[in-house]
Amino acid sequence: MALVVQKYGGTSVGSIDRIKAVAARVAKARDRGDRLVVVVSAMAGETNRLFKLASELTELPDVRETDALVATGEQVSAALLSIRLQGLGYPAVSFLGFQMNLATDSNHGRARIKSVQCDRVMRALDDGRIVVVAGYQGVNADGDITTLGRGASDLTAVALAAALKADACEIYTDVDGVYTADPNVCPKAKKLGRISYDEMLEMAGLGAKVLQLRSVELARRYNVPLVVRSSFSEAEGTWVGKEDQSMEDVLVSGVTLDQNQSKITIAGVEDRPGLAARIFGPIADAGIVVDMIIQNASADGRTDMTFTIGREDLPRTLDLTRRVANEIGATDVRHQDQTAKVSVVGLGMRSHAGVAARMFQVLANERINIEMIATSEIKVSVVVNSKYGELAMRALHDAFINGAATAAPDGLA
Ligand code: ADP
Ligand code: ASP
Ligand code: MG
Repeated sequence: MALVVQKYGGTSVGSIDRIKAVAARVAKARDRGDRLVVVVSAMAGETNRLFKLASELTELPDVRETDALVATGEQVSAALLSIRLQGLGYPAVSFLGFQMNLATDSNHGRARIKSVQCDRVMRALDDGRIVVVAGYQGVNADGDITTLGRGASDLTAVALAAALKADACEIYTDVDGVYTADPNVCPKAKKLGRISYDEMLEMAGLGAKVLQLRSVELARRYNVPLVVRSSFSEAEGTWVGKEDQSMEDVLVSGVTLDQNQSKITIAGVEDRPGLAARIFGPIADAGIVVDMIIQNASADGRTDMTFTIGREDLPRTLDLTRRVANEIGATDVRHQDQTAKVSVVGLGMRSHAGVAARMFQVLANERINIEMIATSEIKVSVVVNSKYGELAMRALHDAFINGAATAAPDGLA
């Protein structure tokens, strides 16, 4: 008997009819003989609705109370699915984060998992039950509810699959796999049969929200076999796993777009040792991830620094940056609420030069200005004005994937 962790996202459990459809799928897997742990997200739109309620009451709602609020979304869908399964005659039981001691640190809103105790889940499975788990939530050492970050029901699923040594972790969502680009933005995107953990990690980190970043990290660390599938069809999904030889033959596996970035410029910073640490120290201490950073060449002993962050972190980061700017005598703090980051990802870049140059040419042909650039071994990212984000993504997809653009031979880029 295989032990399978299935995860159903927000759209998949977005209405009573959809919960019925999920229950039918789960029942089918159970009839095949699988031992099942089913992780669910909140119904589509619910988490956003709850965040909005809190923000209507005060500008920066307390993070502990916000977690208590937003975790209810998953509580509702887990209970509803369990009720439906029982109604169909299947023994099911639902667990919230604290009921299975999914222990996290106290970093509310983006808590990290410390351990998962599977005793209760195991006992329920041994009793022949289908275990339904509320995703996205845990409990800290004080017994308070925490949440694991947006999209983190994927992480709950992978963490359980790792802890239970499950045979597979199946992520059911509203697309039937991982595509070469977001199929809802880029109609010519193609479905991938498989993708390496490393590429998926880059893509998830660069805006392909089909899998949450930390879930891929964890899957890679514990070697969890992961498959992304549609909850609405029987189509074969995309396997995410260890790379094999042939994967390096593909220059670019995917193109991503992240429209959820904001840009902050701190202007007129004295150009002397220690100031970057003064600026970025407090931001890091607040648990905010800074993405790209550029520092202009200095003029008259002063320089400008520009960096990007996730848009949800903008209010807190601006607050911190303004405080530091005052202390260090910087002349100005400016920000752009929305910028776009467009990236190309592929294992083949390790052994082929010229991808960046080719990418810049494609964007130049579209007259899109590049504001920032970052590269790693297997990706090139650029920041562009958000109104050109989708155009840039499609142009790059056309060039690198549909047009199968090749890089310049080694050394000629
Ligand atoms: P869920 O609620 O099931 O967790 P998400 O909305 O988080 O679903 O993720 C699925 C969405 O991810 C798709 O609807 C699609 O628009 C988006 N997406 C972004 N990039 C990709 C990609 N490369 N392949 C497939 N889907 C992608
Ligand atoms: N409901 C949470 C969110 O919307 C977690 C998830 O869906 O994975 O971010
Ligand atoms: Mg998701």
